[in-house]
Amino acid sequence: MDRDRILLTPGPLTTTLRTRLAMLRDWGSWDGDFIALTAQVRQSLLRIIHGADSHVVVPLQGSGTFSVEAAVATVVPRDGHVLVLDNGAYCKRAARLTTLMGRECTVLPFNESAPVEPAALDAALAANAGITHVLLVHCETGAGVLNPLAQVAEVCRRRGRGLIVDAMSSFGALPIDAREIRFDALVAASGKCLEGVPGMGFVFLRKAIVEGCAGNSQSLAMDLHDQHRYMEQTGQWRFTPPTHVLAALAEALAQFQEEGGQPARLARYTDNYRTLVDGMARLEFMPFLDARVQAPIIVTFHAPGDPRYAFKDFNAGARAHGFLLYPGKLTQVETFRVGCIGAIGRNEMQQAVHAVELTLRELGIASGAPALQQRREG
Ligand SMILES: *Cc1c(COP(=O)(O)O)cnc(C)c1O
Repeated sequence: MDRDRILLTPGPLTTTLRTRLAMLRDWGSWDGDFIALTAQVRQSLLRIIHGADSHVVVPLQGSGTFSVEAAVATVVPRDGHVLVLDNGAYCKRAARLTTLMGRECTVLPFNESAPVEPAALDAALAANAGITHVLLVHCETGAGVLNPLAQVAEVCRRRGRGLIVDAMSSFGALPIDAREIRFDALVAASGKCLEGVPGMGFVFLRKAIVEGCAGNSQSLAMDLHDQHRYMEQTGQWRFTPPTHVLAALAEALAQFQEEGGQPARLARYTDNYRTLVDGMARLEFMPFLDARVQAPIIVTFHAPGDPRYAFKDFNAGARAHGFLLYPGKLTQVETFRVGCIGAIGRNEMQQAVHAVELTLRELGIASGAPALQQRREG
């Protein structure tokens, strides 16, 4: 092929040439240029949430999960108790890492096809005064559900509990304003809606709690308090920084601002989402979620009911036509996922639908319609 495949995956995702070109230079980690670049990126990130007065931002090496783990380890005292609002795979991952780090963890389960419920959270907090922190996944990338961040934050504020938000797949696209929404930690990463390359996460920490986090982490590498203190003192990262990833993120952030920031990004992703869902509907594919609870980030579709369908072949076909899809992550229903995020627009989404159409034809599948008994389950 004469162009790279388009990644319709929720990270890594398709980036611009300009972002990739930013990685052609080597940077010394102690060098003034790199120190300045780190400071510039941190300032840009804080501006996105209007958080310069209320929060600090601490970057961390590794994929997004590393930063979720670091946020929990840093913010939750060792005798703390975390309530995880669970409506999907990323929530379950957050609960697992919380437990593995020795924090008491309670899971409040919800249906994976619907948002978590603030009223149920309120009742759970009323019933258990020992819960110190709540963990919410803003956009549950497993099915693609948008969770009610503002309402959950309000319950936590009113009940005096800490809030940790995994905003990995929403940050940069969906509005998050630190002046209006109170959280102790909010986690995102370079390689999602900011359209950088993967390799680093970052955690916004509420200034008022930062000093109290000293000594919470049982891990050296995951200690965001230590990372923050060192960065404030020296401008440098503790341990080898992902230099090229940061340089690419700086360039991606410049393009983010030029495009018009979060509102413009949301508008483009929403258009991608509509183009995708409308096009797939013509092929009779059915989204798993009700459109009212769907974030315009990633769409889960029911697998076609045709017996000739197998994700492996379907995926291989779409790949041969230039598009990488994503397997489903639901336990009950057979699905696949298509991301709407990345440096792509309406043309790419139309071409993606066309690639799916060609693939169905090649596989001898007449329609994308799901098997009847699978509809709206789960
Ligand atoms: C992508 C993502 C993560 C992080 O996953 P990694 O594979 O570690 O990058 C965490 N939470 C959500 C909701 C995500 O979408």
